[in-house]
Amino acid sequence: MTLGALALDSDALAVCYIVAFVLFIFGVRQGTHPRTARRGNWIAAGGMAIAVAATLATDVIGNWPLIATGLIIGTAIGVVASIRVQMTEMPQLVALYNGLGGGAVALIAWSEFRHVSEGFGLEEFIPILFATVIGSVSFWGSNVAFGKLQGLISGASVKLPGQQVINALLLVGIIALCVVLAVDRDSPSEGLFIAVLVAAGVLGLMVVLPIGGADMPVVISLLNACTGLAAAGAGFALDNIALIVAGTLVGSSGTILTLEMATAMNRSVGNILFAGFGGAPVGSGSSEQRPHTSIGSQDAAIMLAYADSVVIVPGYGLAVAQAQHAIKEMADALGQRGVTVRYAIHPVAGRMPGHMNVLLAEADVEYEDLVEMDDINPDMPQTDVAIVVGANDVTNPAAKTDPNSPIAGMPIIEVDQARQVIVIKRSMSPGFAGIDNDLFYDDKTSMLFSDAKAAANEIASAIAEL
Ligand code: NDP
Repeated sequence: MTLGALALDSDALAVCYIVAFVLFIFGVRQGTHPRTARRGNWIAAGGMAIAVAATLATDVIGNWPLIATGLIIGTAIGVVASIRVQMTEMPQLVALYNGLGGGAVALIAWSEFRHVSEGFGLEEFIPILFATVIGSVSFWGSNVAFGKLQGLISGASVKLPGQQVINALLLVGIIALCVVLAVDRDSPSEGLFIAVLVAAGVLGLMVVLPIGGADMPVVISLLNACTGLAAAGAGFALDNIALIVAGTLVGSSGTILTLEMATAMNRSVGNILFAGFGGAPVGSGSSEQRPHTSIGSQDAAIMLAYADSVVIVPGYGLAVAQAQHAIKEMADALGQRGVTVRYAIHPVAGRMPGHMNVLLAEADVEYEDLVEMDDINPDMPQTDVAIVVGANDVTNPAAKTDPNSPIAGMPIIEVDQARQVIVIKRSMSPGFAGIDNDLFYDDKTSMLFSDAKAAANEIASAIAEL
């Protein structure tokens, strides 16, 4: 039997694609709950495997050695990178993968451009140009986001004078070039096409460079949505339904996530993209010494054990210390003494959406004990002790009180309203936004300087001995 004889006919291909789409949608649905999210990932990956296999079995049989080589190399790099990456580095990985997706789409569009010799129909050429521009913006923008999160380039806002005007001119220039190409679509110039590719890349760099680290999660989510839309555009150009559906799913879910995250930070997406703040102000986290109260694990245990209600506020430091199991043990020890313990979840705590939910679910914390910010804040004034575990920015009252703060307007967990506050962290260093936290100097705050896991273990043992 020849390889050609294996090729799927169009009906069989359509059936495979429909199965794949059902699995994509079912997988995304399962991803909405921590208990089912991992399974959802596998299901969606299974759908993608079916879509890829079905596509390969149709019209690219002749290229199979090249394709197999690409698949093997790509899979090997992806598997090794995903196994090695720390949970806390996940946003960088997402930014990098997203950038690769955008770059791949832009290259597919370029390849399509080169393959058509007798000119394009408008309905085919517009998606090609769309995929080129958005794919290139997404590739370069995501790489800058990766560089910022990985610390390869400054997380601060990097802005040229007249940056907005430059960006606007670039955008107008790109649109003008696309119009020229579309008008001349019977024999479009490849030089102009490459100019569009390059200008869109520069626009991607220019848009993301001024955005500071604290806003990066929203930017990554937006770029992810852009990559999805670019892939859908490429799907129209290639007449490939699988790409259209997968791209639209990524585009729409990425857009919803972007809007939700922007709302959680009380910012509009336009403000995040064009205001250019959210970066660490130069000189922040300075050596200025202000008086604060420190406490040891024993005293913290006593304070917690004799409380009626305790709210645990986890943040990035919990993830760094991998303290989720130790915190659960501490909470269980308190629960055995009749203390009501709940966890306050801020939407951007940690370094990726849902970061805290994933970690706490891993430690078998009951989902019902995780309370979202808007629901826990009204209870804060009646809370005896709020214990902040490796969180910083998401508790910083400056978001409410200082209109010039890089996090101004971001809703916070209102820990400062609780009767007593314990903060577990290793030093007085600032968090991701690079700014000092007035909470640490509040009269009712006690600082417990320690690694979060070590502190939680010590507190749990001390409670057990009381
Ligand atoms: P922060 O980054 O504000 O603060 C984390 C704190 O954890 C640090 O101040 C650090 O202090 C402490 N810490 C680090 N390691 C340990 C350890 N081993 N044990 C104990 N403490 C430790 O985190 P938050 O979660 O409060 O806020 C998240 C921030 O990240 C926000 O600014 C958000 O915008 C941003 N962000 C969020 C993303 C998301 O999608 N969730 C993605 C990217 C950024 P010390 O060094 O003194 O120990």
